[in-house]
Amino acid sequence: MTRIPVVAGNWKMNFDHLEATYFVQKLAWTLRDAHFGFRHCEVTLMPPFTSIRSVQVLIEADRLKLTYGAQAVSVTNQGAFTGDVSADMLAKLGCTYVLVGHSERRKYHPEDDANIVDQVRAVLAAGMKPILCVGESFEERRQGIELEFAVGQVQDVIRDLSDKEAEQMLIAYEPVWAIGTGMVATPQSAQQAAAAIRSHLTDVYGDSVAQRVRILYGGSVNSSNATQLMMEGKDIDGFLVGGASLDAEEFATIARLT
Ligand code: PEP
Repeated sequence: MTRIPVVAGNWKMNFDHLEATYFVQKLAWTLRDAHFGFRHCEVTLMPPFTSIRSVQVLIEADRLKLTYGAQAVSVTNQGAFTGDVSADMLAKLGCTYVLVGHSERRKYHPEDDANIVDQVRAVLAAGMKPILCVGESFEERRQGIELEFAVGQVQDVIRDLSDKEAEQMLIAYEPVWAIGTGMVATPQSAQQAAAAIRSHLTDVYGDSVAQRVRILYGGSVNSSNATQLMMEGKDIDGFLVGGASLDAEEFATIARLT
């Protein structure tokens, strides 16, 4: 089963809609450059809500081969939920993906497993694909329970999904200690976690579903470590990139190496 790798740029709370416009133009120009002549991986952008429309307009106007998505979503579809954005609103903006359960959301917002399950359901019901983020903290790694922890997080969220729903999921293994710290997981340990997650998917859904789910690695990915992570990671189908996705040339280079 061939899985098309994906490189997703999580902009977090960076780039207003004007900066987003500039960034997409620069990225498109860089990707078109003969030097970056690749078409083997999907490149997707996860802007803040306020920049999604600008990204959409540019991608559509220039027919760019880029996809995009959102960093969070409400579990409800409409009503008196001040400040929330629904899955239908995001789908109407042409989003393909929504990040769910990012460690920064789990930390700074009241997002527990039940809420994350509801977000996954809302995203799937609106016809988009959730990118479920899982991964251990430094403490869990110190105790040697990182694989159980990450697999447990996947298990808690996917347990009631149908085969068809599970196939739509992407899972990003992102050890919390590696996010934004410059400390990247070794290629062996990233692969070990991805393999453990895929093996769990096989146990629950069987091999044909498990082989379709794309598993990404995230945590201080840059152009110096991407090649090694991909080479050693037969279960790793691309990257979720934070800091390094804010530099168009660096991000394009990561995509070329993926
Ligand atoms: C992230 O926020 O998902 C992430 C992986 O960040 P960074 O690449 O900066 O570690």
